[in-house]
Amino acid sequence: MTARKIIHVDMDAFYASVEQRDNPELRGKPVVVAWKGNRSVVCAASYEARRFGVRSAMPAARAQRLCPEALFVPPDFTRYRAVSQAVREIFKRHSDLIEPLSLDEAYLDVSENKTGLPTATLVARAIREQIRQELNLIASAGVAPNKFLAKLASDWRKPDGLFVIQPDDVDIFLLPLPVGRLPGVGKVTGEKLEKLEIKTVADLRGLVQSSLEQQFGRFGPRLHELARGVDPSEVVPDRPTKSISAEDTFEHDVPIAETEPMIRSLAEKVWVASRKETRITRTVVLKLKTSEFKILTRSHTPPFPPSTCEELTEIALNLRENVDLGPKRPRPDSGAVLSPSNFPRRPRLPPPAMGETRCSPVPFCST
Ligand SMILES: [Mg+2]
Repeated sequence: MTARKIIHVDMDAFYASVEQRDNPELRGKPVVVAWKGNRSVVCAASYEARRFGVRSAMPAARAQRLCPEALFVPPDFTRYRAVSQAVREIFKRHSDLIEPLSLDEAYLDVSENKTGLPTATLVARAIREQIRQELNLIASAGVAPNKFLAKLASDWRKPDGLFVIQPDDVDIFLLPLPVGRLPGVGKVTGEKLEKLEIKTVADLRGLVQSSLEQQFGRFGPRLHELARGVDPSEVVPDRPTKSISAEDTFEHDVPIAETEPMIRSLAEKVWVASRKETRITRTVVLKLKTSEFKILTRSHTPPFPPSTCEELTEIALNLRENVDLGPKRPRPDSGAVLSPSNFPRRPRLPPPAMGETRCSPVPFCST
């Protein structure tokens, strides 16, 4: 099999850069894209704001403390989606195999590209140049023989960077990396690996597959591949999002009548995540897990998709009213999941009004 050529393109500080591009008064200044409100989180921060330690997904109040002179701008996802579409049009000149990850990130398979450029590096350079010239925005790109390496590469020279991992250079790049850089290695797996004194990818490569499977179950074979720079996953164009969900396991059992704050918080998380989608949610599903691990599911498909966070919350709360806990006394619940699905095409939505929604502290925005 000949080596594939994958590009990962990641717009730099996307929402903040769009705001700076469109409003000269914001240029060169620390800009924080966030809704107002106590529970709001940062959707994006300009590089000027990042110098003060401001990061995506941190509480907006903390961002304000870190950088009191920051200029706060409410997010305008309708505009970001339009710009994202323009970026996509540039990608389409080079390949039909485009897999968007979010509004500001996508994989492209350019093993065969549409313009006849001889290398993937030249394709990535052309894409970055066209984004800069035509849209006046900056993108970083990574080029590699597979998706996971391309994503690591795009991050390597950020911002305004291009980094290429040639097939022969995979080990030079990969082996010294801390294992935490591998996709899927989060806190739990990271701590387990630390106990095994596995710090770098080179250490990880020393473990045989059977012992990885023993330690990490189904994730074991994937770790075995990643440690070798192998990732057979393909670039899947327009992978449809089937549903967006948020879930919470309560620290203590909570009577069903007292679950409103939790359901509100889940609805906010889901609403914010749904704003990043090109399609909108319609069917709303509420799942409640009882302390006996029984799962109660209720769903509702309204005639029109919910157009505000408040509408989504109302539907979810009404669903809770329909949950019948049976003839026995109401039992406490130990968890809840809210998951709207069934996406019709998104009609043109007006930008969210200020204060229309509140963000919850979930890391939902990449930059
Ligand atoms: Mg980005």
